[in-house]
Amino acid sequence: MDLTQLAQTLKSGDRRSLARAITLVESGRADHRAQALQLLGTLGQDKQALRIGLSGTPGVGKSTFIESFGLMLTGQGLRVAVLAVDPSSARSGGSILGDKTRMERLSRDPLAFIRPSPSQAQMGGVARRTREAVALCEAAGFDVVLIETVGVGQSETVVAELCDLFILLLAPAGGDELQGVKRGIMEMADLILVNKADGDLKAAAMRTCADYAGALRLLRKRPQDPPGFPKAMTVSALEEAGLATAWAEMQALSEWRKQHGHWASRRAAQARHWFEEEVRRGLLAVLAHEPAKGILTQLGAEVAAGQATPEAAAARLLALLGKG
Ligand code: GDP
Repeated sequence: MDLTQLAQTLKSGDRRSLARAITLVESGRADHRAQALQLLGTLGQDKQALRIGLSGTPGVGKSTFIESFGLMLTGQGLRVAVLAVDPSSARSGGSILGDKTRMERLSRDPLAFIRPSPSQAQMGGVARRTREAVALCEAAGFDVVLIETVGVGQSETVVAELCDLFILLLAPAGGDELQGVKRGIMEMADLILVNKADGDLKAAAMRTCADYAGALRLLRKRPQDPPGFPKAMTVSALEEAGLATAWAEMQALSEWRKQHGHWASRRAAQARHWFEEEVRRGLLAVLAHEPAKGILTQLGAEVAAGQATPEAAAARLLALLGKG
């Protein structure tokens, strides 16, 4: 593969090159990995998109929202990339392609790029692949990168470490729905959007929104937020209502964070986090192979037999790694 050419066409915004580059970073082959690292290294990080994480349980209207919201943005001339982060097991097989068919109009839009989640990826792999895919979308000049995830716990944490803004999409529901959202996820949210605020569901959506607005006020104030954030609002993805207001709030929040240095410090903290994750993964990989694996087994047996304390055995192993 001609990496120089790929880097050039990708930088010019060519979507097929972007798709090829993402396929490269997703590949498990060692030679592909080396090429992917080389490509990412040549692209640099001078372009920054607004990275928006979007989470919500199946059925709340994520695809409908992304389509309406994405089309609104492309209508303003913005280029929008959509990536999905999900361990494949979290979705029924069909919906991976379903992403594309459900966002049919957006996927036909020349200013948009939609990439469904790869199949059979482990969570660690998903994180790396998505992170690199985001970097590729930025290099390809996209203005907004939407990173979608289903609410299955672990994937939210990954997305929160990847995005500039984290949005939780909810559907209107009965009064006890509030307990259904984990506190940790509420704490990550910059904006809660209660979708389906239309027709018969409108009144319920307003109530749900008021409940969440109340719950958000009880959360600890974060230094990276201007007054009034995090916020809860109603939208209707179907009727395309409230989307412009939601976008205005997202822009206001990101502008404020840029002006106060929180944008840059968040990205810096994320970079450090992913560096440490990669080191951790690398160390675990070293431990899984010989000779470390054999030593690990042997020391484990010594510890189990009471011939060495866990601490002493661990120190011996770490000392050996340190020399390696
Ligand atoms: P996802 O699983 O979160 O991606 O949800 P979908 O976008 O597939 O939507 C699930 C269902 O909710 C579909 O039947 C949509 O038509 C419906 N839906 C999505 N957004 C809205 C909305 O704003 N209002 C109403 N009434 N229904 C909606």
